[in-house]
Amino acid sequence: MYTVLAGGVGASRFLQGLAMAVPQRDITVISNTGDDLEFAGLHVSPDTDIVIYALAGAVNPETGWGLAGDTFAVVEALQRFGYERWFNLGDRDLATALHRTRLLREGWPMHRIAADLARAWGLECRILPMSDEPVRTVVLGPGGELPFQEYMVRLRTEPEVQGFRFAGAEAARPAPGVLEAIREARAVILAPSNPFVSIGPILAVPGIREALAGTRAARAAISPIIAGQVVKGPAAKMLAALGHEVSALGVARLYAGLIDLFVLDTADAALAPAVEALGMRALVTETLMTTPERKRELAAAVLAALEGAR
Ligand code: GDP
Ligand code: CA
Repeated sequence: MYTVLAGGVGASRFLQGLAMAVPQRDITVISNTGDDLEFAGLHVSPDTDIVIYALAGAVNPETGWGLAGDTFAVVEALQRFGYERWFNLGDRDLATALHRTRLLREGWPMHRIAADLARAWGLECRILPMSDEPVRTVVLGPGGELPFQEYMVRLRTEPEVQGFRFAGAEAARPAPGVLEAIREARAVILAPSNPFVSIGPILAVPGIREALAGTRAARAAISPIIAGQVVKGPAAKMLAALGHEVSALGVARLYAGLIDLFVLDTADAALAPAVEALGMRALVTETLMTTPERKRELAAAVLAALEGAR
């Protein structure tokens, strides 16, 4: 069993490759729900849905989120009633939110809902939300606290980040199956996701960090930073604002003690000795996942390197 801690776009690209390298039924995804939000009365889990759509081959390839070919008539029509249009949820994407919200109202726990969605999309892998309880990422900025999607989407990551809070994390428990998936896996992989707001909330659920630190599984992380830059998103900006080195090495330092192998891009080969000085092996390979072939090759390289990691 291969267990992947996953955010949205970066994680889903890696998971597409992993699903080409190993049978999907051997994959368990632990999905970040810190991004979840209420939109027009509906519960939306953006990261979980990105992963499901990507593995189902239905994700919009241009954006990396949402459904390919989706339309936006509903968010458009909602504007009449004074809804702001900053969160752009497609019409077919909304069907997922409607279904999830109905099941929540009927008392289904989040892990059963995720399983139902994965089944409906024909997936054979297991998609587990990190917790059944709500954990919400809050960005601490100069003007005070901002719910994550306000920071990310409405304010386009403009406010300077001073820190994060994962509201509800102290009281949250890992969803059923999460700790076992970390403890009993052959390998646990931290996807090339944002370390602060995709992997961070997962590790903030009590018990998950400890399970990762203590597992006998071989553990790897893939750098979301290539040559000091993100492929997309605010990770580099967050590293800088919080006083970390803006590089793959800066990310590796955040994961010291939690992983055995750190995967960095060929563009960052010079950082490998400094990464290894942190007490982990370094794998230098192509990490830019521009084509299906690149995705599969990255996953295969990570798995091959992990075989020798512990
Ligand atoms: P989000 O929840 O949609 O923001 O997605 P994630 O947190 O899973 O991933 C965001 C990170 O993925 C960003 O920091 C990107 O730099 C990284 N990323 C996206 N595409 C690639 C890629 O092809 N290779 C690598 N190494 N990182 C990528
Ligand atoms: Ca996300």
